[in-house]
Amino acid sequence: MTHEIAVIPGDGIGQEVTPAAVEVLDALQVDFEFVEGEAGDAVAERTGEALPEETRALAADADATLFGAAGETAADVILPLRSIVGSFANVRPARSYPGLDAIQPETDIVFIRENTEGVYTGIESEITDGVRTLTRVVTEEASRDIAEFGFEYARKNDFDDVTIAHKANVMRQTDGLFLDVAEEVGDSFGMEYDTALMDALAMHLVQRPEEYGVVICPNLAGDMLSDLSAGIVGGLGLLPSANVGEANALFEPVHGSAPDIAGQGIANPAAMILSAAMLLDHLEYGEEADRLRTAVEDVLAEGPRTPDLGGDAGTEDVTTAVIDRL
Ligand code: ATP
Repeated sequence: MTHEIAVIPGDGIGQEVTPAAVEVLDALQVDFEFVEGEAGDAVAERTGEALPEETRALAADADATLFGAAGETAADVILPLRSIVGSFANVRPARSYPGLDAIQPETDIVFIRENTEGVYTGIESEITDGVRTLTRVVTEEASRDIAEFGFEYARKNDFDDVTIAHKANVMRQTDGLFLDVAEEVGDSFGMEYDTALMDALAMHLVQRPEEYGVVICPNLAGDMLSDLSAGIVGGLGLLPSANVGEANALFEPVHGSAPDIAGQGIANPAAMILSAAMLLDHLEYGEEADRLRTAVEDVLAEGPRTPDLGGDAGTEDVTTAVIDRL
């Protein structure tokens, strides 16, 4: 059966790493039909719309979406895209790879980030000159959904350590609810878990990441803790992610448009290619996903490497090396 994949490169290095992922998927000879859509700063400048109607429709109708990055318009692009695919869970694996010079070479953590609410509701107001507010929304339903997804993910993928991140000692109502519901879910799964204040957790993730497996997080905490973990495994060029919904999903690197290196052909395509491997898993091409991950691991270990990993190769060199390995 042919799967239709919406491809939305977006801005900056999204334009460089997204075609690399498509090239790699092509090389795997899976039965995918790619349909490309525009989103981000460039199309907003031209048309006034950061996420044009045609692109929304592409993502809604496709079996899965590959998204690169958006620059200044990121909030107007990725938040609606996540909602269009009905995504409630953001899965962000942070792994260290053999042969890479990581601050913490024993890291294998998967952040399961709530993807619909928290501080990402966009409910902000200017009360008066110099006073602005943001409404943080936490619901029992979304907290339950993400906790169930997280514990299920840990069980399926044989993770022994599950941690619930929160700041319920300060955000007593909102994170209080998140924590209560997540603990209830953990108990109902009959699985062991820990809870951790997210600030202390940030420190422990840097000091002893090997003690963590699956970390279930409220929205903003998941965003920040996963970027922090990118730092200890070798950088943002390595972290893929999946935005998973009931029936649909969108795959994107954790990094953004990286305007500082965009257009130079030196972006590390690994995060995007590993996101494509997560897409393969999602569409039940498990064997191809494993082959692809192994090829990426081999290239990370032996080179060529892009400058963020200490090498001097370009995006295309790394992509070609991955395809050669396949
Ligand atoms: P945005 O506003 O789009 O999020 P940003 O620069 O704030 O952009 P990132 O794009 O995530 O955030 O980049 C943060 C840093 O990590 C930058 O220095 C960037 O060059 C580096 N970086 C991110 N992704 C990659 C990549 N794939 N390869 C190499 N370096 C990367």
